[in-house]
Amino acid sequence: MMDELITAVAHAIISRAEHLTALDQAIGDGDHGHNMKRGMEAVLAELPTLSGKPPGEVLKAAGMQLVMKVGGASGPLFGTLAMELGKALPPDPDRNDLANALALAVAGVAARGKSERGQKTMLDVLIPVEQALSGGQSSAQIKAVALAAAEATIAIKATRGRASFLGDRSIGHMDPGSYSSALIIATICDKMDTSA
Ligand code: ADP
Ligand code: MG
Repeated sequence: MMDELITAVAHAIISRAEHLTALDQAIGDGDHGHNMKRGMEAVLAELPTLSGKPPGEVLKAAGMQLVMKVGGASGPLFGTLAMELGKALPPDPDRNDLANALALAVAGVAARGKSERGQKTMLDVLIPVEQALSGGQSSAQIKAVALAAAEATIAIKATRGRASFLGDRSIGHMDPGSYSSALIIATICDKMDTSA
């Protein structure tokens, strides 16, 4: 189940790599799609060695691949998200376990990035998603929250990451890491919907 989920996420990101790069060209250095694609390819290559392992172990291993293989800010941050999620997940997680684990993982990203909500980063998607999950919203609702939160980064002025160098000129563009976060969440929500 976890490897199916990770495979779906990896393909969702890889197939949108060009769009993610275009978003980063507008307010960053244009490598976000490339970084994420590379990371997801490394994760896909690792998956066969992880079959039969508990979901938390699979996530931890995937996160380590992202940290090791991806340059840029996003590798360590998405890697931390996956590793912390993996550490916090019990072997057979229920919805509450998932909500608690996501809260810890998002806090781990914020600590690693020295960042918080409102700075035009992936946290602007991950924090509302975490709140929607712990608030009991359905998969379809959480997916909508994630996509709307990525859209909402267009209006934010960046104060963390490379886009912050642009100051006010970062306004009017979607944050690339927020969009990849929303893609990841949307893919997971779609999968949860069909397997429920
Ligand atoms: P780089 O910025 O090193 O070129 P990427 O382009 O791969 O790395 O990733 C950029 C994304 O990383 C941003 O769109 C943002 O969402 C996220 N990001 C950057 N810095 C931080 C931070 N300090 N905290 C949280 N997210 C961040
Ligand atoms: Mg970049």
